[in-house]
Amino acid sequence: MTAPDPVAMLSPCIRGLEPYVPGEQPRIEGLVKLNTNENPYPPSPAVLAAIADAARDERLARYPDPESTELRQAIARRAGVGLEQVFVGNGSDEVLALAFFAFFQHAEPLVMPDVSYSFYRVYARLFGIEAALEPVDEALRVDVAGLAARARQGCAGIVLANPNAPTGIGLPLPAIEQLLAACPQRLVLVDEAYVDFGGESALPLVARHANLLVVQTLSKSRSLAGLRVGFAFGQAHLVEALARVKNSFNSYPLDRLAQAGAQAAIEDEAWFEKNRKAVIDTREGLALALEDLGFDVLPSQANFLFVRHPRRDAGELAAGLRARAVLVRHLRGPRIDAFLRISVGTRDQCARLVDALREILAAPDGATAAG
Ligand code: PMP
Repeated sequence: MTAPDPVAMLSPCIRGLEPYVPGEQPRIEGLVKLNTNENPYPPSPAVLAAIADAARDERLARYPDPESTELRQAIARRAGVGLEQVFVGNGSDEVLALAFFAFFQHAEPLVMPDVSYSFYRVYARLFGIEAALEPVDEALRVDVAGLAARARQGCAGIVLANPNAPTGIGLPLPAIEQLLAACPQRLVLVDEAYVDFGGESALPLVARHANLLVVQTLSKSRSLAGLRVGFAFGQAHLVEALARVKNSFNSYPLDRLAQAGAQAAIEDEAWFEKNRKAVIDTREGLALALEDLGFDVLPSQANFLFVRHPRRDAGELAAGLRARAVLVRHLRGPRIDAFLRISVGTRDQCARLVDALREILAAPDGATAAG
């Protein structure tokens, strides 16, 4: 018997698939971890209590509510929308994947900015969706008129992050309305993973636009990246389509612990307000400190800064920081190679970052490693 050819065994669309590469999660003692846009503060104590309660007795022996009804009710209540307008998933990455599958598989290409969340292109390839990349301008701002013009030529939909990733730059609501008007027959997906740090949410537009899906997450502003809960707002027919895809794939994407913990997080408004304000305040201070060190800092409405030093190689800076136990993200790719993406940490963590950068910048080019 001949051995099977492992490549021929693969579905054709998987053979050349390049997956998304998540930021590393190393265990280094005393590490300042500013590479994956997590929240530096812990989740609400109410979250931990709710998770403990959900695990009591024989509860984990039973399947969770497949519709996550109580969690969706809590999200709907807070947002002032109906239960039928809320969808939840295992992280917003999953919500995005289901949305791509449900809405974007058409003959025309999916329109998106060329600098955006890199997972969009991975999902597009996975689902055989052609991507039409609209260049951002020289300041890395999304070209709304360009996206709208491209969409008007015919498209499978539009996807964008607002605030954008990895730039942190936000768009005002009229820009989103412009895109909705340019793409009336297809879905406009607005990924608001970072909206709570100063962006403008498109949620108020959902009632008026049958083709708008707004996706958010508990990973950033609610300090729950480890719980994996994301959600979407859209008119009932969009939520119903997402549920149809979800129930054809995995009926129970959110376990009991995630549903209970997420609900407690949504209901602790005071904790949410305190932490998001702390991140916003720290971000503004960090931006000034980095400018003092000579960095160009893009205006951020997110929990990270996208920065470039006019005279220093970003890869070398990242390596120098790593040698000093400070982790930031150097995303490689056209137009963004010269930048570092730095998550906003606590004040102490940001101070350590700035000290490390000062030390690195004091050394001549090419001598950035510690020691
Ligand atoms: N959208 C954007 C723009 C992101 O940066 C991220 C985080 N990598 C996500 C969605 C996914 O977040 P999560 O799956 O943790 O909800």
